[in-house]
Amino acid sequence: MAASATKNSPPRSSAASKLIDRMKVYSSFRPDQVPEYLKALGRMLGEYGEDRLNRGLTAAIDAIQSFPPTPAEIRKYIPPLTIETCGKCDAGWVVANPEAKRSEQKVRRCGCV
Ligand SMILES: [Zn+2]
Repeated sequence: MAASATKNSPPRSSAASKLIDRMKVYSSFRPDQVPEYLKALGRMLGEYGEDRLNRGLTAAIDAIQSFPPTPAEIRKYIPPLTIETCGKCDAGWVVANPEAKRSEQKVRRCGCV
């Protein structure tokens, strides 16, 4: 029972704590900001995933060195989601009936995604 409960709850709070630790490079980062950042980073983890959030935070820390970046600023540095495609489609989509009028064209998912 305990094992399955652990498995079902993503380790979001521990991932957020690790990110909080990185905020401590700023001498002006105050302990009373931790709950606010924990909440904001937890939300961003759900939206972007740990890898992208980590890279966004690294970029924010590199770019903003004098004061801790706000959660909104960190968001601006999160890299866009890139999809690997075959290059023949439009970001994973292909027009199924290119002969049709543009307004009547239908797109379908390409086999490469
Ligand atoms: Zn494709």
